[in-house]
Amino acid sequence: MPPPGGAPTIPLGRSGDAAVSAVLLSPNDAAPAVLEPVGLRELYGMVDDTELGWASRAAQLAAFDRDHRFCGRCGSITAPSPLEHARICTGCGATVYPRLSPAVIVLVERGSSCLLARSARFPPGVYSAIAGFVEPGETAEHAVERELAEECGVVATDLRYAGSQPWPFPHSLMLGFIATYAGGEVRADGVEVEAAGWFDAAALPPLPAPGSIARRLIEEFADRVSTRDSRRSGSA
Ligand SMILES: [Zn+2]
Repeated sequence: MPPPGGAPTIPLGRSGDAAVSAVLLSPNDAAPAVLEPVGLRELYGMVDDTELGWASRAAQLAAFDRDHRFCGRCGSITAPSPLEHARICTGCGATVYPRLSPAVIVLVERGSSCLLARSARFPPGVYSAIAGFVEPGETAEHAVERELAEECGVVATDLRYAGSQPWPFPHSLMLGFIATYAGGEVRADGVEVEAAGWFDAAALPPLPAPGSIARRLIEEFADRVSTRDSRRSGSA
């Protein structure tokens, strides 16, 4: 579909033989009638991971261009690189690339329960796995350990990687883990986390949106518990 009225585009990559681009409409531009405007967060659970990936890439590259029009080093105007998605300073020549902020998310298991917490920013009643940004100089494993200690006072062991997900709000990459409880009394820090506790797999609270890695980690845990329980009752 051609972009309406000469709207700027951002090349995103290729899908098979087709080139995929993002079309940047301003708030005053009318979207083509065949398209329905949908917020980025609403796409989770609505489209598959490939389409989410394109939408996420488009949003992050558009935000990068918008937020890096001037050089952070010398203040001159930046211009798009002809070679890659980067911006080059017209004053000092510095090249800047789209920023990615890695974050960790961990589901700690204790028997048939898992550790969930809620932030005041969540919709009412919703609980999720423990998450936080990786800080400079940390490994992802250290970040998991620190977030669990700081936010909930919990120690975990047997940390296992469980996949990742781009999280374009505005430029995170979520690194998912599962772990086993090893000690500590759960207490919410009252800052990042307003409430935290152990939830039985069969009695989970309202969860984050379908399609999010948080939701996937929690649902996979509930499935594992349910499979284990049905095997036990089958062999009894
Ligand atoms: Zn510069």
